[in-house]
Amino acid sequence: MACLAAVATPSDLELRPGPADLRPNPAEGLACFADLGPRPGDPAPGTFEIVAEDPSSHARSGRLWTAHGPVETPCFMPVGTYGAVKGVLPEELRAVGSQIILANAYHLTHRPGAERVRSIGGVHGLMHWPGPILTDSGGYQVFSLRSLQKIDDTGVNYQTHFDGSAARMTPRSVLEVEAALGPDICMILDHCPPGDGARELVREAMDRTTRWAREAAAIRREILADHQLCFAIVQGGTDIELRLEQLESLAALDFDGFALGGLSVGEPIPLMHATLAAVAHRMPKTKPRYVMGIGTPADLLAAIRAGVDMFDCVIPSRHARNGQLISWLGRFNIRNGRFRTDDDPVDPSCACPVCGRFSRAYLRHLHAHNDALYVRLATIHNLYFFHQWVAAQRRAIRAGNYAAVAAALARVLEDQTHPHGSPNSE
Ligand SMILES: [Zn+2]
Repeated sequence: MACLAAVATPSDLELRPGPADLRPNPAEGLACFADLGPRPGDPAPGTFEIVAEDPSSHARSGRLWTAHGPVETPCFMPVGTYGAVKGVLPEELRAVGSQIILANAYHLTHRPGAERVRSIGGVHGLMHWPGPILTDSGGYQVFSLRSLQKIDDTGVNYQTHFDGSAARMTPRSVLEVEAALGPDICMILDHCPPGDGARELVREAMDRTTRWAREAAAIRREILADHQLCFAIVQGGTDIELRLEQLESLAALDFDGFALGGLSVGEPIPLMHATLAAVAHRMPKTKPRYVMGIGTPADLLAAIRAGVDMFDCVIPSRHARNGQLISWLGRFNIRNGRFRTDDDPVDPSCACPVCGRFSRAYLRHLHAHNDALYVRLATIHNLYFFHQWVAAQRRAIRAGNYAAVAAALARVLEDQTHPHGSPNSE
């Protein structure tokens, strides 16, 4: 099937009125699926080039090379937990600007099974996505099954949420699963404590995470393929002292990148942003920095300013399914009755393939009928917006005008908080 970019007419791609310096760049956002993947002469996987740095903040833009091509950073990664971003074709993901997709080793281990995935060409063969893929270990999912897991110093026993069967996860088993799945970037096993955990619990989880990281660093080269990158995860909640302490322990280990885990797990948002601001720029400068599981447009702005390169979050896809559309005009609920006869696109300034032809009324109509086309269209719009939100910052860092663009984006968020008749005023 042709991708949406291929069937879009010139009028669909025409830029509509919007903040002049924030207009989507169709050449970047609607690039064709076929341009993904490696090319002869690519630098070695793991090569990370810093292309530009913003002098007024810690923001930076770079290029991470993987065995399936480059990732331009900062970069937002859509979440395809079990091998699909719900309802959206791979070529559509590419058409809205996706560069790299996240999948989850825990889910794929149990269904359809790591060896089964290996036999069909790994996660790339499973998903038919020729670009880079990152897999999370699934530790976060296991630790969130609180009553179903028992942790010790060498791993965690748990009952799967699929069928209640007993299973065990260790730093070695996670790498073995990722070796079978074959992603470009593998996350190691970490212990993510609850967001409301006491300091002692946070420290215990952090120390365990450090021990597991040492073990993973020591065995990754024997387990993973040479081209598979391996990222460590820093825990420590919102305790900056603990985060920096763990960072120091991990920075010298054999990893290709570093992530901040355990954020956006229920802590107050200003505290999360303060933690990012204090910790992100202290992460190794020459390696990619990834914050797991964030976030809202405001979170992404704060994280990029703090010096983060990569993000993943279910918000664009999950919110879409729940009727929440996110745009330059703010967030609004398509279920609202006033959209019944609203023939405007979701966002007249959005150049996504959905806003180019479908109205709010039509989307509301599809949602009311539980039509699968609604999920597909809403997810495509939301993902396009998130990619553009990040791409606007990536372009600005490279063009040397990030301070002005970041200020403009902050004003967009401020206007959404104090709407003047915009669709989010419900
Ligand atoms: Zn749109």
